[in-house]
Amino acid sequence: MLAILHPNTELDSEAYRQTMHYLENLPGVSVRVHEIQGASQRLTEIYLLGDTKTLSKEEIEALPAVERAIRISDDYRILGRHKDDHRQSGFTYNGVEFSQNNLNIFAGLCAVDVPEHVEQMMQALEDNGEVCTRMGAYKPRTNPYSFQGHGKGCLPWVFEKAGKHGIKVIAMEITHESHIEEIDTCLEKLGRPTGVMLQIGTRNTQNFELLKAIGRQKTYPALLKRGFGITLNESLNAAEYLASEGNANVIFCLRGMKTEAGQPHRNMVDFAHVPAVKRLTRMPVCVDPSHSVGSRDRSPDGILDVMHATAQGVIAGANMVLVDFHPKPEKALVDGPQALLMKELPAYLEDIRLCHDTWKKRQAIYQTLKDSAAE
Ligand code: PEP
Ligand code: MN
Repeated sequence: MLAILHPNTELDSEAYRQTMHYLENLPGVSVRVHEIQGASQRLTEIYLLGDTKTLSKEEIEALPAVERAIRISDDYRILGRHKDDHRQSGFTYNGVEFSQNNLNIFAGLCAVDVPEHVEQMMQALEDNGEVCTRMGAYKPRTNPYSFQGHGKGCLPWVFEKAGKHGIKVIAMEITHESHIEEIDTCLEKLGRPTGVMLQIGTRNTQNFELLKAIGRQKTYPALLKRGFGITLNESLNAAEYLASEGNANVIFCLRGMKTEAGQPHRNMVDFAHVPAVKRLTRMPVCVDPSHSVGSRDRSPDGILDVMHATAQGVIAGANMVLVDFHPKPEKALVDGPQALLMKELPAYLEDIRLCHDTWKKRQAIYQTLKDSAAE
């Protein structure tokens, strides 16, 4: 059961005290409080866990601080969509809105290499009006002798350049909880010229201690990659780990599944799951066409497979695109062969906008059917 309190309920108010006293004394029930700071108001949600079957909605709604109660299922308690659950999806971070209705593009380097390439990438983004990017500093690699990323050494100049080019959010994978502090210390020292979204890679989707550490902090939102060899349910539960520790600002990223059946692509493109994840949870959904497709192969229509895969995800309602670009792919230290080129950026952005607009039009043409199904 979930009890949603009246907006802006003060935690030292009499109504809150009485409500908590009642809830905390329910036999066999444990209570977990989540605070959500929205743009205009603060919401408090109280999750009642354990023996809640015998509780009635009316009983909880009668408590002085409670606005409404929702009976939630066991799966994805915080991030999931439940019956009669009209809670909003998404969040705003560093001035950028993330929701299940809009779209943000994170084009950038798979791995940070030299300042010149970071500069060229960010200049191209600024020229095209983009305020988000991806920049890998900590790279999990299959081969221990491969380049592992510059780590904290590159953070100062990457963050400074981001600030200079008006970048508001950088998706950056971390592979250990100590990286959160490295990022935070560096940003703080520089006066926070940009923001960071902590990315959890597909190899770490079920690294539960890392998930808990990211979930315990609320400064940075999280981008969770789907595990490449586990079920969707298992990956969604991994996302719920973040929320259960207190950080519900989570975006879920589809990045293809590891199977021979996906060939000639690097992974089996799984973007048909975009609407499924939006139906099961309230998370904005990201697609990563670069790591799904893994090449610059082009079909006879002149369009790269990476671009086709992007279009498939966006036309199905994806809310974020995470994509590898590089000014000189032949010099990239990681994943050069799948990177798009600077000169391809404007057309690619136009293609994405077209697909996002088409998704909106698709919603409109099905709207009347949706309304009659609800009757
Ligand atoms: C990445 O985005 O750089 C990456 C390593 O992706 P994944 O974890 O999906 O393989
Ligand atoms: Mn990569």
